Amino acid sequence: MPLLKIGSRGIYVQLLQSTLNKLGYGAGTVDGIFGTRTENAVKRFQRSVGITVDGVVGKNTWNALMPYIDGYINYTVKSGDTFWKLAQTFGTSVNAIIAANPNVDPNNLQVGSEIIIPIGNAVVPTDISYSYDIMMSNINSLKRRYPFLKVSTIGKSVSGKDIPVVVIGSGSKKVCYNASHHANEWITSVLLMKFIENFCRSYIDDGILAGQSTRKLFENSSIHIVPMVNPDGVDLVTGALSPDSQEYRNAENLSRGSGLPFPSGWKANIRGVDLNLNYPAEWDEARRIKFEQGFTKPGPRDYVGPSPFSEPESRAMGEYTRNNDFALTLAYHTQGEIIFWKFLNYNVPGAYDIALRFSEVSGYSPEITPINSGYAGYKDWFIQDFGKPGYTIEAGRGSNPLPISQFPEIYKDNIGILMLGAVLA
Ligand SMILES: [Zn+2]
Repeated sequence: MPLLKIGSRGIYVQLLQSTLNKLGYGAGTVDGIFGTRTENAVKRFQRSVGITVDGVVGKNTWNALMPYIDGYINYTVKSGDTFWKLAQTFGTSVNAIIAANPNVDPNNLQVGSEIIIPIGNAVVPTDISYSYDIMMSNINSLKRRYPFLKVSTIGKSVSGKDIPVVVIGSGSKKVCYNASHHANEWITSVLLMKFIENFCRSYIDDGILAGQSTRKLFENSSIHIVPMVNPDGVDLVTGALSPDSQEYRNAENLSRGSGLPFPSGWKANIRGVDLNLNYPAEWDEARRIKFEQGFTKPGPRDYVGPSPFSEPESRAMGEYTRNNDFALTLAYHTQGEIIFWKFLNYNVPGAYDIALRFSEVSGYSPEITPINSGYAGYKDWFIQDFGKPGYTIEAGRGSNPLPISQFPEIYKDNIGILMLGAVLA
């Protein structure tokens, strides 16, 4: 973690402010700028945990904050400990401790053994710019708290980042949800990560989410979630990629003359290919249309790439999809509050009915993809090659990147779709 003090800026300042706010230290607006208000909040936190009060966030302060960022601690069992007492001490629930330690017998705690204690209510922050590293840290935390999650990778990005997939459930009905094919639509990654977290929390309490039993869904379905298809692009847009890096400068050069703001207007992967125009579903037609519109080379958006599946990210999605017999897929984008459900004249039995159910629970409208963006997308390829229901959901409303302040509304609108997708498939 970087050393932060007055004048510091960026994602880690956001994370600091968000965490201090979560703990009630009043760091003010999460703006990524370390000012006096943040400094005072840091000092109050340092005083309360008994470390040097200097308002500077160095190693000791990060160490003291880490349990609240990670959402768990490793704890060595002492004589007289019970799950109930530990839950009281650490402000968590017995169920949460049981879930995190499936191989520990609560009635026979071994003094000196290590267990995991979940801390606090939520891991996934919904008020900061969501970079790849923060997502990976959240996935690790969720896996510790909810060891029944299956985490693996589907491949690597252009810059060599592992693209993770998280699987919820053990049932035979398999569906795939993915987000952030487009870099400046990263709020969709937060949506899927928050869904994973809230699903797990409900599941350990045998709860209901959007009218569905999480336990029943877990037993009948497996939801394969790829929360960030384009991690390099997301890091560029969120500010996680340093402006001094070669990759940043290359992207900046590719963006020149596009008339788009940089980096906030960037949709493509880090070498300028629009991943949702890179699938072999009438790709030649997509190429013809985009070239006619002037998108003939790598850039921030709308370049289809040298060939279908030319990019490691789309190829990884393609292979993973091919290797799993998905009954339904959801590809999350922003914006427009629209459900795209069709590709050309492919007739997918039940696809429109499911779109109508999604519409009922979200208020989003089922529509036919406009001709100019109607080819070579993930859902197009999925419908064409597998003949099963595949959807592009355009979440939220406004201009991309949507502000993170829109998150609560986006979550509320989409939780019904996310639960129904695995039920109706
Ligand atoms: Zn998009």
